Amino acid sequence: MPSAEIISIGTELLLGEITDTNARFIARALRDIGVDLYRKSTIGDNARRIAQTIQEGLARADIIITTGGLGPTVDDPTREAVSLALGVEQEYRSDLWEQIVKRFERFGRKPTDNNKRQAYIPKGAIPVENPVGTAPSFIFEKEGKAVISLPGVPREMEYLVQNAVIPYLHSHFHLNSIIKARVLHTSGMGESIIDELVGDLEKYTNPTVGLAAHSGQVDVRITAKAASQEDANQMIAGVELLVRQRLGKAIYGVDSDTLEGCVAQTLALQGWRLAALEYGLNGELLRRLAAYTPDLFTGGQILSTPPENRQTATETFRQEKGAEVGIGVFLYPAGEKQDIFITIITPQGQQNHARPYGGPPGNAPTWAANHSLDILRNI
Ligand code: ATP
Repeated sequence: MPSAEIISIGTELLLGEITDTNARFIARALRDIGVDLYRKSTIGDNARRIAQTIQEGLARADIIITTGGLGPTVDDPTREAVSLALGVEQEYRSDLWEQIVKRFERFGRKPTDNNKRQAYIPKGAIPVENPVGTAPSFIFEKEGKAVISLPGVPREMEYLVQNAVIPYLHSHFHLNSIIKARVLHTSGMGESIIDELVGDLEKYTNPTVGLAAHSGQVDVRITAKAASQEDANQMIAGVELLVRQRLGKAIYGVDSDTLEGCVAQTLALQGWRLAALEYGLNGELLRRLAAYTPDLFTGGQILSTPPENRQTATETFRQEKGAEVGIGVFLYPAGEKQDIFITIITPQGQQNHARPYGGPPGNAPTWAANHSLDILRNI
């Protein structure tokens, strides 16, 4: 498996004036084709420091991808840095200059003398045409390794990654592995309990198992690296079985499944419809149920003051909306801790839940909505 490092070039990136979205994009592209990413660095517009970072990177990894610093101005240092790092001169390429002139003509403009800089690339580099911008990119191959220099403008960089870099890496490094992830969504079980139940699986190296906690929901991500989709699916299925055996009904769905979608299934299965009242949730619960209006969700109301009797208010609203199931979710304002009350009325009876909430107050509405949906999916 080849390894890579990314070098983001630009003083504005280094000083935090702009966010480095390019490195994230490249990292994901590499992950998807099975290249191991070892390191990301950010260097200002200084050819010597960039050259040093490229040299260090080449000692550790097979592929160095730089982004930025290919423009026509003096402080665009990447061409010089790559030449320095690899110990070659810069070479003027008349074919590149012709491409640049043509591209300017297409926009009804004339290149300036400055643009001539962009026709120089490190001697021996393979130019990569950039049909969406002016700066040509290039790839320098050395001893089986590659330094790939891409522009900084995100649109140009993305185009070149997809259309030039990925195909190049596939053929040059004979990539034959893919990375695939499957996410199991859980609710109603805390992260620490899940961690206890699947902690041993989190030590696996392939597939890997990782947890991500959200308010009232925890995701278990299984990621496999394999030679084919089928192999990856098989590897994931083996681990998924173990996770399912241990977490059971806490798992409500996979990948793009949602908790509200799961509730909709439960309601449809029973032939029931739902009416919902909420207080203190800023409309979060109703927003998420709105996709199921009016077949399964007959209506909702946001209360601006809490009702005197939560059960009566829920039942009255349920009857008013002609639903078989009524839910009232009441979230009282943040104090030391927030209290959440949930009333659910079904043809089979009434459930009342009271929960203290100790997390960040801003997350309380999401927590309350997820918690209510978790109870609803199990009615
Ligand atoms: P071009 O020659 O096409 O202008 P360039 O290689 O000279 O490209 P830079 O001058 O380094 O690119 O950057 C151009 C602009 O692209 C920056 O001003 C910034 O808005 C954006 N940019 C550069 N690098 C990044 C990055 N890593 N992430 C997000 N945006 C970036």
